[in-house]
Amino acid sequence: MNADTQLIAAPLAFAGARTGYVTVEPELTEDGALVIEIVSFGKGKPVHKRFAVRETGSDFGRAFRLTKIGALKRDEEAGYSVNLDRTGSLCACFDHGRCQECKHILALRALVASGYFTQE
Ligand SMILES: [Zn+2]
Repeated sequence: MNADTQLIAAPLAFAGARTGYVTVEPELTEDGALVIEIVSFGKGKPVHKRFAVRETGSDFGRAFRLTKIGALKRDEEAGYSVNLDRTGSLCACFDHGRCQECKHILALRALVASGYFTQE
């Protein structure tokens, strides 16, 4: 972890008895997106995933797009659309479909609670 990288929330309880944490890197992407890393601990080695995060428009709640940074594995999703809402948050990933919760939603909630993506 770079010295200027900010730890947002640890530990987060991810789906399936996994835990993890989220960091925010000091530099934005070239087009101004926040760069985060979600680290999850399950069986075996910790899994590190970096994403560029942008808030997008939504008819309800708040919508975000997480775009993976770096090479994708075979059949790996290029990113996820996440909607945060008081009545139930949504994510298009496999864990959310299975458990109605996921690390992407937890990470975005933690980012918003930490003052990122404040609405003017
Ligand atoms: Zn998800």
